[in-house]
Amino acid sequence: MKKYLPLLYVLALLNSLALPRDIYQSIRVYQPTPKRIATIGGLGIPLDHVSGKQGIFIDLVATEDQTVELISRGIELDVLIHDLTSHYRSRNQPATSRDFPLGSMQGNYTWDELNDRFDELQSLYPNIISERVVIGQSVEGRDIWAFKVSDNPNDDEDEPEVLYTALTHSREPLGMMNLIYFVQLLAEERSTDPELEFLINNREMWFLPVVNPDGYVFNETIEPNGGGMHRKNRLDTDCGNGDNRGVDLNRNYGYGWGSDDTGSSPNPCSATYRGESEFSEPETQAVRDFIIDHQFKNVMHYHSYWNTYIHPWGDGSLPQEPDITTLTEIGQEMARYNGYSVGTGLSTIGYGVNGDAVDWTYGDQDIISYVPEVGSTSQGFWPPESDVSQLCLDQVHPNKIFAFVAGSDIIMHSYEMSEEDIIPGETLELEIIIQNRGLSNSDGDINISIEPLNNFVSLNVESYTMSEMDARDSDDFLISIEVMNEAPLGSVSGLIVGMECEGSFTRVDTIEFVIGQRQMIFFEGFENELVDWSLDGDWGLTGDAVNGEFALSDSPEGEYQEGQESLAELDRFVNLNYLNSPVVEFKAKWEIESNWDFVRFQANIQDLGWVSLNGSYTELGSGQPAQPFGEPGYDGVQNEWVNEIIFLDQLNGADILGFRFIQTSDNFVEGDGFTIDDLSISGFPTGTMGDYNLDTLVDIYDLLAIVDVLLFGDEPSPSQLFFCDLDGSGVLDIMDLVAISNVILGIQQ
Ligand SMILES: [Zn+2]
Repeated sequence: MKKYLPLLYVLALLNSLALPRDIYQSIRVYQPTPKRIATIGGLGIPLDHVSGKQGIFIDLVATEDQTVELISRGIELDVLIHDLTSHYRSRNQPATSRDFPLGSMQGNYTWDELNDRFDELQSLYPNIISERVVIGQSVEGRDIWAFKVSDNPNDDEDEPEVLYTALTHSREPLGMMNLIYFVQLLAEERSTDPELEFLINNREMWFLPVVNPDGYVFNETIEPNGGGMHRKNRLDTDCGNGDNRGVDLNRNYGYGWGSDDTGSSPNPCSATYRGESEFSEPETQAVRDFIIDHQFKNVMHYHSYWNTYIHPWGDGSLPQEPDITTLTEIGQEMARYNGYSVGTGLSTIGYGVNGDAVDWTYGDQDIISYVPEVGSTSQGFWPPESDVSQLCLDQVHPNKIFAFVAGSDIIMHSYEMSEEDIIPGETLELEIIIQNRGLSNSDGDINISIEPLNNFVSLNVESYTMSEMDARDSDDFLISIEVMNEAPLGSVSGLIVGMECEGSFTRVDTIEFVIGQRQMIFFEGFENELVDWSLDGDWGLTGDAVNGEFALSDSPEGEYQEGQESLAELDRFVNLNYLNSPVVEFKAKWEIESNWDFVRFQANIQDLGWVSLNGSYTELGSGQPAQPFGEPGYDGVQNEWVNEIIFLDQLNGADILGFRFIQTSDNFVEGDGFTIDDLSISGFPTGTMGDYNLDTLVDIYDLLAIVDVLLFGDEPSPSQLFFCDLDGSGVLDIMDLVAISNVILGIQQ
């Protein structure tokens, strides 16, 4: 009875015979000299998803044949993952949440599913989603289509236009998925989200979900469950019927086209083949003509992966002012919540390209343009299905910001106070800087309203009018704040600033401050033999100090060790219960291998364990073994001492049981490590320091009570200890008695 093979099996077999699948591998090439990188680029191995260690190795995606070719040229390498497609599929996890319907290719829509999904959304929301607009045909004759989301979507209104494109490289489906996610959100949440409602009514948002339908359909054919690794379009370039054929559409644009053979390849069978001439391909022609036909203020060309926002130029040089500031500010706002890096491809990923879409859009059309690379290095081209919705969600804020800045977008850029301490009964000056961060001029005056957050302060003005503000301009104004005599110490006050302007979203921002004088409740200058610390590894004292003789270092004798984890934990319990807006500050400098090694400052939280804390100088972990993905920490080079500030309010009032530094490293490259000095904890006490009997006064009765403690061993309550342990030693002693006497006598220390 086993005479016949099941029909499906035969079809699958025929299919795989007709379309031989290249095996794609993750490989690690050692000693990546510029010459070697040129060889690699010349073989057509894309350098746009390369990670590595400078001068030691680079990790690349190559086909099995290319790996063999590299080995035959005597290039030393390791194969890290033998078959990426199998790897992507084997670690796939089904998604659990289904609010956003996923597709059948590891969560991503197939070409047909995308078309169905669009029809469904369009028929549900025809008032804001336009019909398909066919803007060209692919090599194999598929429609390349775009659509608009706006009020009156089928009319061309006088509203700022923004464009999002995706799936230029057909193995990068998260670009398309996040756009459909965003469109569904715009349609479903507009009634409850005023930002989305504003964007629909005041912007024309264009979406071009698939630039390269043929390549995408080819991936579906060879890998129906996802994981297909074809990148280019499907032009027959005499390289057989597999995925060597085709033109790399993101090397085919007419700006700097073919300027060298590393950033693009003249070889028709290479993965970065740039085509016979600039705009030789119908797909890039369609995008070009579509952009020329519109008045886009800004264009986002989605790719994946690397968790980064890339701006021009492709060769790594920087655009001139004011554009570089514009690009940087917009990019950093887009990355506010997802922590993506922002910069040129060379600075963020380390590769140069030519003939790419973002260079042409900016260089030829003078349109602000970005390439997001969605997803981390560990997620790769085809993340597990269970990651798809989160990756889409991570792009909602960036997509919104990008649409906002197409028009005028009035924000509070920054502010500055004349005094550091906000003392009851005093008056201080506040300078507020208002910016039009958008790419269009404002429509008329900007009305600014200012009101106190509560009655602890009063203001000399309630409103202010600024005249029209050009795109990217800013202006400032001053207000006086009187702090009321009866404002309680340690309480929060501030003001609410509203900005209203025709054609710009009405934004409301809050400036908050704490009333009173910041009080230091713990100080460690590392001059005291480290009695309060538990250390392991090489942590110890160094003579390289900011103040005094000593500081703490993870490697006082030189470089830190490779492949280790070491700790410096503060043994002393610091009670933060009677402190508002607590802050940890320390002086630090470091030299830590960027992207690979890490030092984190952590708080031990009741029920949660050790949590890494955000500071002014932290960056998010890369996901490499010694850098837990998304956790804040320190790496790179900081040669000069800096004052690091960590606001503990980021823990939302959780009970903090302790603090520690944790150092982690992998192999090959080490650095001088991390050095810390003058660590302090301060905040705004909720009572009066020195007030033992808690009657809000500091007087002789407090002294008498403390004398009782010293003489008769009375136990102070935790709050009494907190308010009277002025030297932060953890116990009430004669030093505190002297300090409190000085407070009573009015002697400043
Ligand atoms: Zn790409």
